Amino acid sequence: MRAPGVDILSTAGSIESASSAGPVGSASSAGEFRRAEARTAHNYHPLPVVVEHAEGAWMTDLEGRRFLDLLAGYSALNFGHGHPALLQVAHEQLDRLTLTSRAFVHDRFAAFCTALGDLCGKDLVLPMNTGAEAVETAIKVARKWGYEVKGVAPGAAEIIVMSGNFHGRTTTIVGFSDDPDAHGGFGPFTPGFVMVPYGDLAALEAAVTENTVGVLVEPIQGEGGVVIPPDGYLRGVREVCTRESVLLLADEIQSGLGRTGRTFACDHEDVVPDVYILGKALGGGIVPVSAVVADRDVLGVLRPGQHGSTFGGNPLACAVGHAVVGLLATGEHQARAAELGVLMRRRLEALVGHGVLAIRTRGLWAGVDVDPAIGTGRAVCEALMTRGVLAKDTHGSTIRLAPPLVVAAEDLDWGLDQLAAVVNR
Ligand code: PLP
Repeated sequence: MRAPGVDILSTAGSIESASSAGPVGSASSAGEFRRAEARTAHNYHPLPVVVEHAEGAWMTDLEGRRFLDLLAGYSALNFGHGHPALLQVAHEQLDRLTLTSRAFVHDRFAAFCTALGDLCGKDLVLPMNTGAEAVETAIKVARKWGYEVKGVAPGAAEIIVMSGNFHGRTTTIVGFSDDPDAHGGFGPFTPGFVMVPYGDLAALEAAVTENTVGVLVEPIQGEGGVVIPPDGYLRGVREVCTRESVLLLADEIQSGLGRTGRTFACDHEDVVPDVYILGKALGGGIVPVSAVVADRDVLGVLRPGQHGSTFGGNPLACAVGHAVVGLLATGEHQARAAELGVLMRRRLEALVGHGVLAIRTRGLWAGVDVDPAIGTGRAVCEALMTRGVLAKDTHGSTIRLAPPLVVAAEDLDWGLDQLAAVVNR
């Protein structure tokens, strides 16, 4: 097989040279990029690439240049771009029924919720759309459970959160983020959250009070830079929650659904949370689908009128989500993430001391701390782009690698060759 990327290198050239080319208004990447920058809020700082179509692990821009996707839509594209089985289900559903609202029941709803509940080993599913909505839902459920089941005094419920957390962008959620970019200028915030250092079990135990209703934790902090807590930490959190009668709320929105080589990142420590919070890959990269999954004694606290969403659990979302659960039920993608993860780890380990200060990996997911002497994470991602690889920096000097789980081993190897060439100068 011809080495992937040869085409890119010979046809792509540098995006910088492209970005000074096409006139504004033409269907050129440079023109489209400038138009987007001119007419949209600058709440993102995208790389100057304009994708026109994609398949598997590869994206193609308006000029036909191909890029290996090492971000996978922040893990929303675990099954790759345009997975044939997911596309087929989506097309069929589009032609039949797309939206009913939850005022009526549709014929895709029960099957999806049953399959997802079974995958999680839980009784009930509450479908929403975005990850942040699912986190908000879990917070509401934990508080209501605290008042109705645990017997916490009205208005006194506390939820313990972790330093370095990322759970989304709503006002309540950014209010308990310790990232100044996330919360600065957006207060006042919702009370009732207590922060402890991530990975510090003693601090968590000390923070629990009679009013604690939940511990909200990412089993691995993705936005934080793929930060993996010490071995045994999640098991310890589980024990504290069980002992103190507190709900363990696992935000598996980024870490779950195959990314780490298991269905859930919690599985690595044989931990079963009280509440799974899911999103991203649940929509197969096609539609936003998120969900809160828990047993009846927890999710059963919600009654009609107390929570909802116009689009949550819509027929298209349920059809795609059900197909995603079907892909996960075979274990094939989890095995692939584990297998390719070994390759990725071996390649990244060889870079430590050669432009890379440290790496953290679990399955097909890596945080790569670039030596600031080489440049910022952003500069490395820009250099990668000129070599036909798309990745994303986080927190200044960390690059997060999360290729679609369907990436070919030789393509991944080639992508890591490009990273090595950029950092090991
Ligand atoms: N929780 C975690 C762990 C995430 O990584 C993210 C997004 O990156 C979210 C929640 C928010 O998801 P969404 O962007 O779909 O609202």
